[in-house]
Amino acid sequence: MAKPRVYKTEAIVLKRSNLGEADKILVIYTPNLGKIRAVAKGVRRSKSKLGGNVETLIHSSMMLAQGRNLDIITQSQTIDSFLPLRSDLWRTSCALYTAELVDRFTEEHIENYPVYRLLLDTIKNIIEEEDVNRLLRHFEIRLLGYLGYKPELKTCIHCKKALEPVENYFSASGGGTLCPACRLAEPAVRPLSLNALKVMRLLQQSSYQQASRVKLNEGLSKELEAIMRSYITYILEREVKSVQFLDELRRPQNYQS
Ligand SMILES: [Zn+2]
Repeated sequence: MAKPRVYKTEAIVLKRSNLGEADKILVIYTPNLGKIRAVAKGVRRSKSKLGGNVETLIHSSMMLAQGRNLDIITQSQTIDSFLPLRSDLWRTSCALYTAELVDRFTEEHIENYPVYRLLLDTIKNIIEEEDVNRLLRHFEIRLLGYLGYKPELKTCIHCKKALEPVENYFSASGGGTLCPACRLAEPAVRPLSLNALKVMRLLQQSSYQQASRVKLNEGLSKELEAIMRSYITYILEREVKSVQFLDELRRPQNYQS
């Protein structure tokens, strides 16, 4: 169905870039219209009413008008600016990483309400979360599931047998787990400890409230991060930019032991 000429939607601002002298192009993610690129006119002028209501990572209620190429944001009212997030560079960077992943993994105008809900909940949870790394792993594995990249964690992707409770292997190119006997079936595999496999299964199936009962020590947290990063990088075919920034900011106390 065609969009009306003027429409209202909730949105999360994923990123912004300058356009001309005073405008910005925003990439927003919406509950029912998916990702949209839209213009915020005059937003860089000091008197702009849109100004603070279209910042990156803001959750707002917007009015848009259909434009010839890009739609135009005519009004924006902030629902939540996640203010406590903005005073913490590490947590802000983590939230920007979730927004970047959603941007990189999605096409415009394809509705995916679970992705919208996951992004919004994750940004809210980043503010208060003790173990942000665990939260990010939950976000990644759920996001991949909602977008058709759910990694296979129950059976070997090659011989299809149920995985034994031993050290198995993860293949980014195969999109899942290989049993020890089949580890050479894919070109690049990495060992996957039994604990990491169990946590990945749990994160894949659970709400964040359920998943947050799992305590990850530093070794396990790093293993999960490396596995998920290899898989995400493989899918995106290039390094996610903000990951490098997260590395520079990494604070050891974010690991629970
Ligand atoms: Zn096998």
